[in-house]
Amino acid sequence: MVEAHERYISEGSAEEKAAIDGHIAAIERVHLVPASIAPVAVRTGETGPEHSTVSIPGKHDTKISSPDGAIVVEEIVLCPQMLEDFNSTTHEIGHSLDLNALGGRLSATDKLTDHWFSAQPETQEWRRAVQRSVAFDRLSTARIDMEKQAYYLLPVELWARSYEQWIATRSGDRDLREKIERRRADVPGLYWEEGEFGPVGEALEALFVTRGLVK
Ligand SMILES: [Zn+2]
Repeated sequence: MVEAHERYISEGSAEEKAAIDGHIAAIERVHLVPASIAPVAVRTGETGPEHSTVSIPGKHDTKISSPDGAIVVEEIVLCPQMLEDFNSTTHEIGHSLDLNALGGRLSATDKLTDHWFSAQPETQEWRRAVQRSVAFDRLSTARIDMEKQAYYLLPVELWARSYEQWIATRSGDRDLREKIERRRADVPGLYWEEGEFGPVGEALEALFVTRGLVK
């Protein structure tokens, strides 16, 4: 186990690095990361118009067929605007921890979290907690753009947002909390209300505890 900043290395201007490192510090107040993860550069750059991406050079569609295949996330590229407006650093680190299977050895697909659901019994509690939550229901029935809604409901995205909120709750980081607050008002059920998050956060906590990562 190592500290998050030993594997997630910020790059860019002093201001960008400060924003990225602030979130990495919040993560460090909550958990360690597996030493087996290869170092990941975290920087801003050209991404799709709307979403930050986990960029895996040379493996754009990230399909690995071998059941023993391991995936290496080499860098996280954040849209500069999203770095400012959203919790992109924490969100994308959540994705990368999912892709790296929290240091485990699993086959990797572009929807690894789906695979986790069937392959990892330890994720069942988290899935159940999410699906039973009021926020999930609210998001599923929200009258919003259908394409966006389907995207928000992808298990990988539910994973990354719940990870963001868990880090925000456990670290008490003001920036993380404020950004969630703002996004919560934008899209119904995108994040959990304070009183609804308990079981989801506890399930995530338990999952990280089983990996010996919680401080
Ligand atoms: Zn995402």
